[in-house]
Amino acid sequence: MKESGRKQGAASPCAACKLLRRRCAQDCVFSPYFPADEPQKFANVHKVFGASNVNKMLQELPMHQRGDAVSSMVYEANARVRDPVYGCVGAISSLQQQIDALQTQLALAQAEVVHLRVRQTASLSNHGFGPGSPNSSGSPSSKLMGSQVKPIFDMDMVVDQASLGESMWSC
Ligand SMILES: [Zn+2]
Repeated sequence: MKESGRKQGAASPCAACKLLRRRCAQDCVFSPYFPADEPQKFANVHKVFGASNVNKMLQELPMHQRGDAVSSMVYEANARVRDPVYGCVGAISSLQQQIDALQTQLALAQAEVVHLRVRQTASLSNHGFGPGSPNSSGSPSSKLMGSQVKPIFDMDMVVDQASLGESMWSC
């Protein structure tokens, strides 16, 4: 029984032991994280960190953190292989730049919302709520065409309320 178990272990070593050409023990520290069907995963980690360093790092960690550590090392190793100069720092800084650009866009959009709200409030107060507003009292033509002013005023009022309702609806 013992021999057949060992034979099975030798028949399918983990990706790390296969690359290092060593026997994959039952308690192999690599085998849970570097399955045989993903050889490239360990190849890059070995190339960048070195198998013995990875072994040491994993041994120093509690079991429940090893998976995350391996994901992190695989990510860093792949980034380093792709970009030998900047490694994962290249990806981080390009994502940081995207965040900055999007935050600028967001700030501009928020400023526009504030601007539109202020304009809407101003145009509402121009229709009778603000007695001193320049548009309602300052236009000489509306004073001259006395009979035509009221229907236009009513129409504006309806349009403004509709657009106000729309913008409130969308918020
Ligand atoms: Zn192994």
